[in-house]
Amino acid sequence: MKPSSFRYHAPKTIKEAVSLLAQFADEDGRILAGGQSLVPMMNLRLAAPKHLIDINGVEGLDRVREEGGELVIPACVRHADLEQPVTPGPLGQLLSAVAAHVAHTPIRMRGTFCGSIANADPASEWCVVAATLGAKIIAHSVRGAREIDASDFFAGIMTTSLEPDECLTEVRIPLLQDGTRFGFYEVSRRAGDFAMAMALCVWHLMDGKIVEPRIRVGGVEAAPRRIAETEAVLAGAMPSREVFQTAANAASESLVDILEDTRIDAGYRRELARVVVIRALERCAV
Ligand SMILES: Cc1cc2nc3c(=O)[nH]c(=O)nc-3n(C[C@H](O)[C@H](O)[C@H](O)COP(=O)(O)OP(=O)(O)OC[C@H]3O[C@@H](n4cnc5c(N)ncnc54)[C@H](O)[C@@H]3O)c2cc1C
Repeated sequence: MKPSSFRYHAPKTIKEAVSLLAQFADEDGRILAGGQSLVPMMNLRLAAPKHLIDINGVEGLDRVREEGGELVIPACVRHADLEQPVTPGPLGQLLSAVAAHVAHTPIRMRGTFCGSIANADPASEWCVVAATLGAKIIAHSVRGAREIDASDFFAGIMTTSLEPDECLTEVRIPLLQDGTRFGFYEVSRRAGDFAMAMALCVWHLMDGKIVEPRIRVGGVEAAPRRIAETEAVLAGAMPSREVFQTAANAASESLVDILEDTRIDAGYRRELARVVVIRALERCAV
């Protein structure tokens, strides 16, 4: 399969990249990161950008670093780079546990964390991680840099608050304090397929009780959403099967605009959501 024709640009700096974006945004000029979503879409003619701005040659975008209590993930860090813990402590473990669920090894070797965030597929594991952990998304354009809270970033199916002339340069995730527990669970038809539903929860315990629970469900609605009803059930409770069941029921009942396709109707996906939440909670408690 061949995409429609385009011009290829290989900037060496972010300044060059955003200047090209400013020039070509009107012609659907796009950033090319790992190409693992964009190139298939181009081959299927679902996307036909006239200009591709390849940021893989921009120096300094391929290494994670810690800065000011945050893990900074620049735009060319691959999914596979996160398979092994990149930071000591719970955040490195969490990213490593989730990375194993993102696509298949060849795709993980090339696809990028930030590309997933920019692409905003409802079934993207990294979007759920960013939303749950209160990540900040940094975007550059010729107008300068701006910081967007993950809670304001995901606007719908493959829709974000990035402007067409903005390049997402890095995602910053607050480090998790020692003792933070997490549980992630997803259901997909085969290993490596996009998830039909997934859940991530995070909390810590104080005197045996759950403190600051955070939970997001992905692959079920257009974008990851905070499930406040479930967090309310969990906060201050002792972890138990009964509490988890009540919390999972609350999550499932709180879902409004459930995604449907030819194979999965809303009722089935609502039930899947209940199941992934309860299993994520159980994993969090272990
Ligand atoms: C068979 C298959 C299975 C997959 N399974 C999964 C899965 O289970 N879970 C999952 O999450 N993903 C899955 N993916 C998608 C994969 O994770 C992609 O790598 C990811 O969605 C996009 O990252 P990328 O670096 O490849 O971005 P690209 O394909 O290069 O770009 C995707 C889109 O984001 C934009 N973009 C990318 N980077 C930036 C940036 N820095 N600034 C602004 N815009 C940017 C591009 O312009 C484009 O519109 C799968 C893909 C395939 C082909």
